[in-house]
Amino acid sequence: MAKKEIRSIAVLTSGGDAPGMNCAIRSIVRTAIGHGIKVYGIKRGFLGLINNDMFEMNASSVGNIIQRGGTILNSSRCPEFKDQINRKKAHQILEDRDIDALIVIGGDGSFKGAIALSTENDFPVIGIPGTIDNDISGTEYTIGFDTAVQTAIEAVDKIRDTAASNERTFLIEVMGARTSSIALKVGICTGAENVLLNNKKVDYEKISKAIRRGMRRGKNSSIIIVAEGEKPGRSYEISHILEDMHHISSKVCVLGHIQRGGSPASNDRFYGSMMGMMAVESLLDNKYQHAVVVKDSKLEVVALSECAQKSDHVMNGFEGIAEELSI
Ligand code: ADP
Repeated sequence: MAKKEIRSIAVLTSGGDAPGMNCAIRSIVRTAIGHGIKVYGIKRGFLGLINNDMFEMNASSVGNIIQRGGTILNSSRCPEFKDQINRKKAHQILEDRDIDALIVIGGDGSFKGAIALSTENDFPVIGIPGTIDNDISGTEYTIGFDTAVQTAIEAVDKIRDTAASNERTFLIEVMGARTSSIALKVGICTGAENVLLNNKKVDYEKISKAIRRGMRRGKNSSIIIVAEGEKPGRSYEISHILEDMHHISSKVCVLGHIQRGGSPASNDRFYGSMMGMMAVESLLDNKYQHAVVVKDSKLEVVALSECAQKSDHVMNGFEGIAEELSI
């Protein structure tokens, strides 16, 4: 891509919202202003881009947002952006407004859209990984994961009190449509008796044996963390099978969207701030189709294509640890 002077940029948040996106927006706006670059905030992700729904931001537009969950720019899914005609239209809108580059905060789907826009129109884009699931290839961290895990941990701790008091088994379902990152981390951090992954057949025999073994040594309650998988609510079916086939009664709690909200935890504020700053600096460094990632625990800038796939790599190797520690 030919080098160009970056005088004006735009930023959008796309796909599922995640706590810490506001920290990244704040950092982008303030870093850009510090370099004398104009910044536009695009509303509702790619939908706002094709509808020309954007506004110029200044230092005060991002005041008092570092502690707020969600995204002040709103987010959306925009299937129309998969159509090249709409991406052409989006590019024309950016050109007409003299915008030289776009920063996309989102997941692997949003990055696919960003790559298509960039490649077809020779237009600079930088990606910042933002999704609570921590499930993007090429990065060890995505903004939102820490807060989602912390929210789930607090909920599980509370449920543990009632489970212990009433001597019950609880199935607690956490988010993660295509990965079990949240489930595995929460399982280890809460001392759960078992973690049921999204992509593995449930081994009912093993679960019931473990619960009975625990009971024999005086354990009066159990917590099983369930990754929701493609169909949220799968815990109800698991609970029925445990009852009908193995005579183990259990209660179900599906945490759901509570995990998306809330004031960002420290990692999300930190990485949001650092990634936002590095995204702007990368554009000034003529990096035009890149993403800011965490690799070997360090912040780095890599080709955006490295991050455009779903991946389960982050919690690889942690499977089974919760069970081993909860004997
Ligand atoms: P996430 O970014 O969190 O993975 P999605 O997969 O829903 O979320 O993608 C968010 C948006 O990115 C989609 O609504 C669409 O606008 C855009 N997008 C996703 N995949 C593509 C693609 N293959 N080509 C163009 N745009 C895409």
